[in-house]
Amino acid sequence: MYFIEKMRAIPRLPDRIKKLEELAYNFWWTWNPDAEELFKEMDQDLWYEVKRSPVKLLRRVDQDKLQKLSKNKEFLENYDRVVKKFEQYMRSKDTWMARNYQDKVDKQIAYFCAEYGLHESFPIYSGGLGILAGDHLKTASDLGLNLVGVGLLYRHGYFKQTIDKTGWQHAEFPEYDFEDFPIKPAFDDDGEEIYVKVDFPERRIWVKIWQTNVGRTPLILLDTDIPQNDPEDRKITSQLYGGNRETRIQQEIVLGIAGVRALRLLGYNPKIWHMNEGHAAFLTLERIREFIQNKEMDFRSAVEATKAGNVFTTHTPVPAGNDVFEINLIDKYFNDFWSKLNISRREFLDLGIEKSKDGHEHFSMTVLALRVSAVSNGVSELHGKVSRRMWTHVFPDFPEPEVPIGHVTNGVHIWTWLNRDLKELFDRYFPENWHENVSSPEVWKHVDDIPDEELWEVHMKLKRRMRTFLHGRLRRQRLRLGETIEDLMEVEDILPENILTIGFARRFATYKRATLIFKDIERLKKILTDPKQPVQFIFAGKAHPADDPGKNLIKKIYEISRMPEFKNRIVILENYDMNIARHMVSGVDVWLNNPRRPHEASGTSGQKAGMNGAVNFSALDGWWVEGYNGENGWTIGDNRDHEDTELQDKIDSVSIYSILEKEIVPLYYSTDEKGIPTGWIKKMKESIKSIALNFNTHRMLIDYVEKIYSKAMSSVEFTEKDNYSGALSLSKWKQRLKQNWDFIRIKPNIPRAGFRSSISVGQSIEITANVYLGELSPEEVKVEIFLAQFDEDEKMIAFKTFPMEIEKEDVHGEYLYRGKFKVEEEGKMAYTVRVVPNPERMPLSSFIPMAKWV
Ligand SMILES: *Cc1c(COP(=O)(O)O)cnc(C)c1O
Repeated sequence: MYFIEKMRAIPRLPDRIKKLEELAYNFWWTWNPDAEELFKEMDQDLWYEVKRSPVKLLRRVDQDKLQKLSKNKEFLENYDRVVKKFEQYMRSKDTWMARNYQDKVDKQIAYFCAEYGLHESFPIYSGGLGILAGDHLKTASDLGLNLVGVGLLYRHGYFKQTIDKTGWQHAEFPEYDFEDFPIKPAFDDDGEEIYVKVDFPERRIWVKIWQTNVGRTPLILLDTDIPQNDPEDRKITSQLYGGNRETRIQQEIVLGIAGVRALRLLGYNPKIWHMNEGHAAFLTLERIREFIQNKEMDFRSAVEATKAGNVFTTHTPVPAGNDVFEINLIDKYFNDFWSKLNISRREFLDLGIEKSKDGHEHFSMTVLALRVSAVSNGVSELHGKVSRRMWTHVFPDFPEPEVPIGHVTNGVHIWTWLNRDLKELFDRYFPENWHENVSSPEVWKHVDDIPDEELWEVHMKLKRRMRTFLHGRLRRQRLRLGETIEDLMEVEDILPENILTIGFARRFATYKRATLIFKDIERLKKILTDPKQPVQFIFAGKAHPADDPGKNLIKKIYEISRMPEFKNRIVILENYDMNIARHMVSGVDVWLNNPRRPHEASGTSGQKAGMNGAVNFSALDGWWVEGYNGENGWTIGDNRDHEDTELQDKIDSVSIYSILEKEIVPLYYSTDEKGIPTGWIKKMKESIKSIALNFNTHRMLIDYVEKIYSKAMSSVEFTEKDNYSGALSLSKWKQRLKQNWDFIRIKPNIPRAGFRSSISVGQSIEITANVYLGELSPEEVKVEIFLAQFDEDEKMIAFKTFPMEIEKEDVHGEYLYRGKFKVEEEGKMAYTVRVVPNPERMPLSSFIPMAKWV
């Protein structure tokens, strides 16, 4: 039959409940359970059928039902209450930001990321990076930051995972109907859709702008799948992390360059530009171009002006995980761009060039971002340290501890990840205003007020809920594979609630070592099948579709899970997503995490688990180095890095078995006369107290404001004053420093023989140095004593500086400086003298990363 047009008739919302639409198009409902209840109440079966998507629900619900609901007293009461709460939240001006940073509350922050994990019904995320970005937006809304998110809208999202009968992962790419997503196109004042243009080799790409809201935080999403583009270009935003390197550079141009243009068209004027991972680093180039073309700046001044407002967060301590492009791809996509910046190809490439060990040159997004950001950070204390080591070559004048990459440790959004039954339990024992004070230790110490039986009762309830959920998933999984009735029946026996249950769920990147516990399979079997104290494991996670080693890990676990001797003791679930994550982190007893240190930048799933009372059993990597306090869980392996990965695997796996056998299993099964494992509950309480307090995103965002955003905001003030004369003079001065830097000479006047074998704490050392500054004036530099501290392996671990003062000008351009310092700590140390640009003339002391050494 020939149909002229296909369409869906959408039910019309009665006026009385019209605001449901606004609620559905704002992710606020995802962290406000009473709003979620409202949608569920409308049609519970449909709610689950549409996988808990309010927009889908409103597009499919019965018109009659809507009519009835609009007259149902009970529903209307709930509706009015939720709407009132929502409107109050949206309107409120009394926010943390307004109370603490009145002068900065209006300054806009643009936050760029390639993925966002806001809810499982909006699958534009692959893993931890996306969840972190989603939690960042939610928390920015809660705290009242003036932040706007920018990302890509993927027609096929991230892939859907199935596992076949042999354990092999298959990737499906469903085609999503954007009308089912809580997004709307952006319109101009005339009601026309807005598009941005970007130039590609010999053609122009059109990018459609979509918008959604995360509480008070808008999120802008970019999409090339529109008829104006060639079929090939329509596929640019087809899949998250899909395609080849060329697809990737195209996506990153859309994200970085079209992203800036989209914000401009929509009337945003951000002061801060936060790149969450290097994918977005092309935004720096577009901003440089804007300064050159709109403000008629020269390239160098434009770089300084841009840099002041750029903020960069790196997430990848694995060298191969950092985004790099071959020079020929950069040539292909940017050969028109450098002329717009009035610079040569070489000057352009120098922004991001990196030489690998074999001398091969490529363009690194991380290097670009580091070079042109005022402030950069890693995502845990250890990761900050690892990043400083990884990126010393970008800051050749600085010793490793001085490389300007700090850290803000990741967290998770409590209201998204804390189970609501636990929240209700806390409501009964915590101070009334605790929702507003989640970063206060005063709040969390009330965990101890909760009677053990009550906490245990809620935990067991959550464990049963997880079981019911997983049974449904497993049954569907087995039905699809055409398994026997027996296999289907067997699902009912899986995951009994009285067995110690360990969860492992995350992306199947090889460094996460999902199969580490199978290293000594006989020893594991003994642990799992102990008749008195059995243990069971639940696994879930996707391997990137191009990652065969990752897929092999899944296959191995699947095969073991179907071995008769491991029957019902090991389960692997398909299609890990935020929904499975939520059930698992609140339903298991132990959360296992055994990455190959130091490859996990932070990790966040253990934070979700810990605040829900699932006790962490984790390698000392990422956040757990800071999170572990001796009482709140267990550690795997030791607090150091190993060169030999085979050896590390061995050490860590033995550590897992032995702690399971000696500590975890016995503690779990030792119960009091009422059957309650009091020792275990003590661990749960320690875990909730310490982890909910320190690893929530409210603490994290406050750190970002205090350590990162406010510094960049002051830098912007410095460079933009008097119509950007700050940036202009900064770039002139930097040139002057560069031209004269090589002429600087430092001649220290060596005290005594110059070989001191030891000195006692409390003693002072005074030194003088003759410093030749050439054309530079003493006001332009700071001469200082640099005191380095070493560990026993002679590795510099920290440093301090002490200013030196001019005593006199000896001859023209040569000055005598004097300074002293007091030794305040024991240990190995050494000192020297150096000249650095005067920090008072820069927005931040690392803004011009130069230093001249003896
Ligand atoms: C939290 C979360 C992650 C991150 O897990 P890590 O163990 O920190 O890598 C990945 N995927 C989903 C769906 C999550 O909810």
